[in-house]
Amino acid sequence: MKIKIQPTLQRLERSTCNFLAVETVKRELKAAGFRELRQEEEWSIQGAGKYFMVKNGSAIFAFVKGSAKPGEEEFRIISAHSDSPCFKVKPNAEIYGDGGVVSLNVEKYGGGILYTWFDRPLSMSGRVMLATSDPFHPETRLFDLERGVATIPHLAIHFNRDVNEGNPLSVQKDMKPVIGFFSNERIEQVKSRGGFVRLMVAERLGIEPEEILDYEIVLYPFEKPSVCGVNGEFFQSARIDDLSMVFAGLDALLATCDTTTPATRVLAVFDNEETGSGTKQGAASPVLRDLLERINKGSREDFLRAIARSFMISADNAHAWHPNYNEKYDPTNHPVIGGGPVIKINANCKYMTDAEGASVFRSLCRKAGVPCQTFVNHSDVAGGSTLGNILTSQLDLRGVDMGNAIWAMHSARETAGTADQFAAIKVFTTFFS
Ligand code: ZN
Repeated sequence: MKIKIQPTLQRLERSTCNFLAVETVKRELKAAGFRELRQEEEWSIQGAGKYFMVKNGSAIFAFVKGSAKPGEEEFRIISAHSDSPCFKVKPNAEIYGDGGVVSLNVEKYGGGILYTWFDRPLSMSGRVMLATSDPFHPETRLFDLERGVATIPHLAIHFNRDVNEGNPLSVQKDMKPVIGFFSNERIEQVKSRGGFVRLMVAERLGIEPEEILDYEIVLYPFEKPSVCGVNGEFFQSARIDDLSMVFAGLDALLATCDTTTPATRVLAVFDNEETGSGTKQGAASPVLRDLLERINKGSREDFLRAIARSFMISADNAHAWHPNYNEKYDPTNHPVIGGGPVIKINANCKYMTDAEGASVFRSLCRKAGVPCQTFVNHSDVAGGSTLGNILTSQLDLRGVDMGNAIWAMHSARETAGTADQFAAIKVFTTFFS
């Protein structure tokens, strides 16, 4: 199995927000012959058929139906998330300053490392809703400006000599992106059309700004993903958490989707993990459980037996050992970049991993011929949580929480291991085979 990193980098580059990440996955599924199912329609699922369902445009669930009967069905699920920390553009976003300088009023989405967003070219992408004759069904249009249209300039060191000693930041004051400066005539003209954000998006889409009823727009770092390290051992990009796992799952599904297995293979990409998964397209909603019930099509008894037989890999990235901060890590369980996929373990059950789930994953790694590591928090550090346990409140599945070890999680530019990406694809492919 020869794997290259370029396809992952190209997907990261195209997937500049949750909606466009789902679009990237959807495009590849369609090209591989997967058929779209809509939640509101009646489904007719054929044996060995390949299908996907999109929820809210920001979550996507793809599956290949297994050959087993409903009473003998088993689901093999890989879950990951489409969203990443970023800044969302507020409604009525424009703030007008001296000299015609225009800034944007933004809100923080998730828990990003604010410092990393300064002094970079930023672009915008997202979805806008357009009016139609039916108020209940506005039209959705996705867009990506694909050019640097904003920047968040840092205050010069001369105004804050202590900046390197620690400098608390206010999102409302310090993080407002500047989009340019304009003449008074231009500002008045644009104001009368709804403001700069609406006008830029409308121009990009070839529509009138007045057609836009509402929007969800994010700022994203415009620099392209790249390989780095003397031997190309790292790759860097925004949104590696968790799109690297989404794309590893996608690669595994695409590599195995034309073979028949008794088990039904599922790739579940949820939205809103970074804000607690509490939306209709998030892992705390019944969306996956309902989907599995519709796939199974058997009795309640059949479905519950299928769930009891199933296994989930909850794939969300882990923290790699950082050579400058050894003291932050557990002395004996600190995964390194390049050391292979990481099983995440927590005594207080913040992760779904238990000895049984970890053993299943270790065996899969052995079978795939890839190394495997463990992450446990330093005992004085409270760690984060992820999808696994949120999902087990909806489905009492066996499973494991894992991910690849990365640096600078939630930075505007995260760093991951090239070999680890290949290893994740291999073990996921083994899981789906
Ligand atoms: Zn994550």
